[in-house]
Amino acid sequence: MKTIDLTYLQVITESDIDGAAKESATEVVLAERVILTPSAKEALAARGILVRTGGAAAAGASGSAGAYGSAGAAVAGVDPARLALFTSPEAQKVKEEICAVGRKLWMRQYVDGNGGNISYRVGPNEVICTPTLVSKSDLKPEDMCLVDLEGKQLAGGRPRTSEILLHLEIYKEVPEAKSVVHCHPPHATAYAITGKVPPTCVIPEYEVFIGKVAISPYETPGSGSFARTVIPYVKTHNTVLLANHGIVCWGDTVTHAEWYVEVVDTYCWTLMLAAQLGSPLSHISETKAADLLAIKKKLGLPDPRHDNPDCAICDLPDQAGGIAISQRSCGPEDRETLIQAITDQVMAALGKK
Ligand SMILES: [Zn+2]
Repeated sequence: MKTIDLTYLQVITESDIDGAAKESATEVVLAERVILTPSAKEALAARGILVRTGGAAAAGASGSAGAYGSAGAAVAGVDPARLALFTSPEAQKVKEEICAVGRKLWMRQYVDGNGGNISYRVGPNEVICTPTLVSKSDLKPEDMCLVDLEGKQLAGGRPRTSEILLHLEIYKEVPEAKSVVHCHPPHATAYAITGKVPPTCVIPEYEVFIGKVAISPYETPGSGSFARTVIPYVKTHNTVLLANHGIVCWGDTVTHAEWYVEVVDTYCWTLMLAAQLGSPLSHISETKAADLLAIKKKLGLPDPRHDNPDCAICDLPDQAGGIAISQRSCGPEDRETLIQAITDQVMAALGKK
């Protein structure tokens, strides 16, 4: 009998059950008010995995602040040093910065309802994040939560955001990432729902701060499998479009991560406006774009084009008005697209026979 603890998940999908099965689980422990997708229920039944419901470890699943006490209160058994960190002057500054950034996101219409979430890594295994079910315009420092890198809530007056797992995968993958912002800005999300990535070499500011963005495949929000979709991209991109969902940006501060959201959404908006003019985009030459990439490298910002001769600097053709060339391989997203295209062609050829 092998039991696997999944109480850190608020949403469980089929792939989470598949993951437990791969580890030979015969039983899983779930948070009390967890959302089990229909396919996850089927996978549990098909694999004969028993389900047990856990207790207070179900951080954030209750939807009520009561389980966590007042702000700064700990879930039983938490190290006092972590509590001291959460209530330190440094943490207070972070909480205030998160509130200010939350208001910016709301005012720029990047978050609707209770959408979007913000976090900051205050320690090697400690992250301050926004709570679930609160509008980003109404955040107060005392609403913030403290979680560990597995998503377990350690302190805070409200349950943590259900999307914290996405942030945590980024912190685990990229040590330079100190803050993560996830939201649904309309213009960048328009790209994400059409599976399109904006071209490079059009506007210098975008080139320096964002450059190439990646697009990660769709998964059910809140699940562990959704959180893991960004892993292949975040080392070389500070911005990832989340297919049929929104975007996620990471930076060295909360304010900078929000800047990247602004830069990418305005860029997507400008491209849409330019498309309405009906003329082809003029673009920055590869040589000039290489200057911008050098500035970017000096600023310590990631880009798959750094020191990668296989990766095209510009996606657009050199001749204005020409047809866009297909870009050379720049990373896992391109390889996956290529493999998919080859697979589709093989399948189509087999189908004709
Ligand atoms: Zn979202």
